[in-house]
Amino acid sequence: MEKKELLRAQNITRVYGKGTPNEMEALHPTNVTIYEGEFVAIMGPSGAGKSTLLTILSTLDFATKGGMYLDGENAAGMEDKYLSKFRNENLGYISQDLTLIDTLTMEENIGIPLYVSGKSQSYIKQKVEEVAKLCHIEKLLKKLPGECSGGQVQRATVCRGLVNDPKLIIADEPTGNLDSKNAHEVLMIFKELNKKGTGVVVVTHDCQIASYSNKTLYVLDGNIKEIVEKGDMSQEEYYQKLVELTSEDIDEIFNEE
Ligand code: ADP
Repeated sequence: MEKKELLRAQNITRVYGKGTPNEMEALHPTNVTIYEGEFVAIMGPSGAGKSTLLTILSTLDFATKGGMYLDGENAAGMEDKYLSKFRNENLGYISQDLTLIDTLTMEENIGIPLYVSGKSQSYIKQKVEEVAKLCHIEKLLKKLPGECSGGQVQRATVCRGLVNDPKLIIADEPTGNLDSKNAHEVLMIFKELNKKGTGVVVVTHDCQIASYSNKTLYVLDGNIKEIVEKGDMSQEEYYQKLVELTSEDIDEIFNEE
């Protein structure tokens, strides 16, 4: 079956502080295509440019140069209204920060993407309960985020990213506040959704998390330095390959001593 392109970044760069003494190109010309149903991990050391790449792919930020294509159309010419609609209908963004609104209940927070797209109260209630069950926080829906643990709030941010049945989940270190058992559970949820056709792009520094993907983009100094495909490897073999790849950074740190 032919793969259908969902997002394509063509020769994108990102310069921060343009025109200031601190100007720096955090992302050098980069090409990435995300096809529907893919599971891609983005790895690399801190400061490599992973979040910069992810925020451009998720259309939350614009490239300084180059083109970003959504469903084959250039996003540059799109009005904000259209971009928001595209995001709302296709993407589920899960950030590493616990970005829930303190004064809204967990239920209201999770339902935000559906309120924005004008869904009915009964539909919202049903969808919120469905994703909350998936993440085992269905008993906490009436609580405020301040009454829940960091891990529970992070599960709610995961739920908010899933509630609109996105074609693509985009997650930036989604398990940073979870212990390894809970992180595994969240990744299994992504894996199950991926089996049913949902695409996943996840930024992580953790090889174990990346080993759930089918392809890893390894970012270093603002470039995609290497692409590793899982192919026929078992998850363990793939994990070992990623450990080898990322251990080069650690070697470099020790060699600097
Ligand atoms: P990573 O996600 O791999 O840790 P980032 O994409 O956050 O890396 O950052 C890449 C580089 O860009 C870093 O050197 C970082 O300091 C710089 N950077 C990121 N965001 C900004 C910003 N808003 N303004 C200026 N510099 C930034």
